[in-house]
Amino acid sequence: MNMKKPIVKVLIPGIPLKTKFGGLGYCSIVLIIDGDKRILFDTGHYSVRNNILKYIKLYKINTLFLSHLHFDHCLNADLFSEFNIDIYVHQKELDRLKSKKISDVYTFYFFNQIVKNKKIKIFKKSFYLSPNVLAIETPGHTSGHSSLVVNNLNKSFIIAGDALKTYKDFTSKTKKNDKTAEDQVQMRRTLEYIKDNFDIIIPGHDVMIENGKRVKSNADFFEF
Ligand SMILES: [Zn+2]
Repeated sequence: MNMKKPIVKVLIPGIPLKTKFGGLGYCSIVLIIDGDKRILFDTGHYSVRNNILKYIKLYKINTLFLSHLHFDHCLNADLFSEFNIDIYVHQKELDRLKSKKISDVYTFYFFNQIVKNKKIKIFKKSFYLSPNVLAIETPGHTSGHSSLVVNNLNKSFIIAGDALKTYKDFTSKTKKNDKTAEDQVQMRRTLEYIKDNFDIIIPGHDVMIENGKRVKSNADFFEF
């Protein structure tokens, strides 16, 4: 294991806001610097596009990791393609694009058209993205949904994406249904796994949860 500790910075915290017409879709966008790898977790949608462009240059990002291909997590992926940045995405997410379901209003079915395929790095199972960053499969929300576990910090740490979307997901004791989830049973199993195994969780659409508490003020910069 690399002795140099990774740095994690939440660039844009997820915001769990909805109107009666639908969610605003602000997802957590997180920078991880681990040795030479300067990874961005998810890219958000057009509302944050200007910031994403700024971050690519400012933090010299060389790797994009996409949790899944819902529009609110991947819509700015074309910018990374323009800068020749590797884009990691699970095989099952790309497979989902092949059969368009008109009722699925979240999946961004045009993903392949906005990125140059040669920069897409497809993975099929858990793997180390860098010495301290482990990509794991967290299916249920979508079949290829994946999260990043960051090792070598003082606490167990996961960037969950939509495998655990909000603090409400974290606290809910009942078997709740998530109408955006592809597989409710798998979604619930993944959610419990994350709740049971990590001290610090970055949800897909909420601020950081540390030891079961929502940490508002600390969603900016933290180095362990
Ligand atoms: Zn999603």
